[in-house]
Amino acid sequence: MPFDQKREHTGKRHVYGPVSSRRLGQSLGVDLVPMKSCTWNCIYCQLGRTKNYVTERREFFPQEEILGEIVAVLESGVPVDWITLVGSGETMLYKGVDALIAEVKKHTAIPVAVITNGSLFHLREVRDELLDADAVLPSFNAGSPALFELIDRPAPGFTYERHLNGLVQFRKEYKGKLWVEVMLIKGLNDTEEALCDIAEALWLVAPDMVHLVLPTRPAPEQQVAVPDTDRIERAFEVLSSVAMVMHPVKGSMALEGAEDLLAAVSAIVSRHPLQERELLDALLSRFSGDRSAASGALDDLFASGRFERHTQAGEVYWISRQQGRQS
Ligand code: SF4
Repeated sequence: MPFDQKREHTGKRHVYGPVSSRRLGQSLGVDLVPMKSCTWNCIYCQLGRTKNYVTERREFFPQEEILGEIVAVLESGVPVDWITLVGSGETMLYKGVDALIAEVKKHTAIPVAVITNGSLFHLREVRDELLDADAVLPSFNAGSPALFELIDRPAPGFTYERHLNGLVQFRKEYKGKLWVEVMLIKGLNDTEEALCDIAEALWLVAPDMVHLVLPTRPAPEQQVAVPDTDRIERAFEVLSSVAMVMHPVKGSMALEGAEDLLAAVSAIVSRHPLQERELLDALLSRFSGDRSAASGALDDLFASGRFERHTQAGEVYWISRQQGRQS
């Protein structure tokens, strides 16, 4: 479970942020498990190696303590787009996630996301506890048992088949947004064969979206590296056959210096779907924060007829008109 959230400690034990997340806007992180309690020992884990696997679910911390911290942040009035349950390890090792989500929802209408490695989805109780989450983001880094063992290094008994079957079963039962994360690692799962295996397996899972992520943070193993650009683009292409893919590379939206705005945006959209809010942010930078100029430019771009709007999991994307829908 890679975290894409830069943690800024608030002085609280469980709650971090809100921090700006590419995928979840202003995300309030809620840590549910003690440091490095995990069923896996991923080679890319930014938390370091898993010294002792933890596979038994427990209420590691009293729910009231966690809830109290969440409510305190919400009452402070800071803007929050998502409340994100995430652990210093595997989130779903925390027993009672359903009760926590229910309590959070009594206090706020802000949606709740759960970042998890998905390794416990073979358990009915775990799948049931997630049914009221607004979005669930499980990991899926390999489409074969051998690569799964190499990348995720699971605890004994946590097999590839169990992981995949758990995800497939969860998809059948869960009606919220299922956004699968794929951590792309150079030379391991960025090869043609590995990408096709992942796509084939994800067809069975049928996620609402695939989030491609890169190992840009320090990893415990030396061999972990960010793939070359052409492999990232290829991964994007291959996985786009399964669902809409969120491209992992930020910064593609520097429009300040673009002489021909329409050509610049067309070039980006021809490569990958573009979040409308990301485009608007880039236009705001271009027009020095002038909201009406940015909105006007957005309308002009759309009026060119080159783009279509596509809504996926509540998010509006622009895609090329020729390209049509990808999922
Ligand atoms: S699932 Fe992998 S990346 Fe996530 S905490 Fe466990 S070892 Fe680290």
